[in-house]
Amino acid sequence: MIKLLFVIITISLISILGISLNKVSRDSGKAFKMLSDSTKSKEKIMEEKITRSEEEWKKILTPEQYRVLREKGTERAYSGEYWNHFEEGVYKCAGCGAELFSSDTKFDSHCGWPSYFTPLARDRVIYKEDRSYGMIRTEVLCAKCGGHLGHVFDDGPDPTGLRYCINSVSLIFEKRPKQK
Ligand code: FE
Repeated sequence: MIKLLFVIITISLISILGISLNKVSRDSGKAFKMLSDSTKSKEKIMEEKITRSEEEWKKILTPEQYRVLREKGTERAYSGEYWNHFEEGVYKCAGCGAELFSSDTKFDSHCGWPSYFTPLARDRVIYKEDRSYGMIRTEVLCAKCGGHLGHVFDDGPDPTGLRYCINSVSLIFEKRPKQK
């Protein structure tokens, strides 16, 4: 009798375990599908991104552009082309040509580098924590080519309160008069 009870309990346990395992495998299948979907969307973004070898960048960029964009350098304050430049137009990435900032959002920050209170669109730039030189700063990079642009600080004017402090050498200005 006890043996029979033991056999029944064992069979029940095995069947419960079987159902659970089946559910786990179905769930992991779902998870895998979600993962592959997100991989696909990442691939789509990656298609739009530009990846070049350091040798290729060296051929395309001037030594100063390479130093700032690829080696995260900084141009000397008040030395760049755009810190005191206020024509109407668009500032593009010097590495890949992506349109990054508009003259509409440029302001005179008196810091010696071109300053904007926002990028042209949220997805044009990416951010990275920068702990170099004993400071904690937020680095701003071009979302398309990964080039170093500058840093963003929270001492900017309205409406964002942000100051995108960008190296002139990372930018190329394109004059674009406002359409009336
Ligand atoms: Fe770029």
